[in-house]
Amino acid sequence: MSRGKRTLFVTLLCATATCAAAEDEMFEDHHAHEHGVATLNVAVDASRLALQFRSPAMNLVGFEHRPRTAQDQAAVSQALEWLRDPAGQFQPSAEASCRVVKSEVTPPDWEDPSGHSEFAADYEFDCQKQAALQHLYVRLLEHLEAETKIEAQVAAPDGQHSTELTRANTRLVLRKPVR
Ligand SMILES: [Zn+2]
Repeated sequence: MSRGKRTLFVTLLCATATCAAAEDEMFEDHHAHEHGVATLNVAVDASRLALQFRSPAMNLVGFEHRPRTAQDQAAVSQALEWLRDPAGQFQPSAEASCRVVKSEVTPPDWEDPSGHSEFAADYEFDCQKQAALQHLYVRLLEHLEAETKIEAQVAAPDGQHSTELTRANTRLVLRKPVR
């Protein structure tokens, strides 16, 4: 019996954005560094609200070089103070009774060879009434340079969406209204 040409089956691995779990993909630390733009990735699950904030230092302190003056240093200290106060800067729907259970703030690496530097912050809130979690007010915008936009991406049980927040629009909708 002549054997047919052996067929090579190519196994398609789960290596693409569409295949990977949406949340994991969103939380990979790949993002553009664009002055005037910050990013906020939000994940809502059974009882947790997870936030990942990334911003060029420019948006928070107006420079990206190592602080040179007392004024520079004060600006950095102030920015870190805001970021270390997630309950003050990120306010979930009050009825959801959320409290901060994780807050990790990473100051900029002023020696980054790119010449750019960023602030990073990761937070988690534990929410007692997750069903009441409808919105997140991003007060931090009031402290960013006036024209800064936050590109927010939300992954919630009822789907994903992205929104742009500004000082004029600080309310991030976390789930679609029930119709
Ligand atoms: Zn930069």
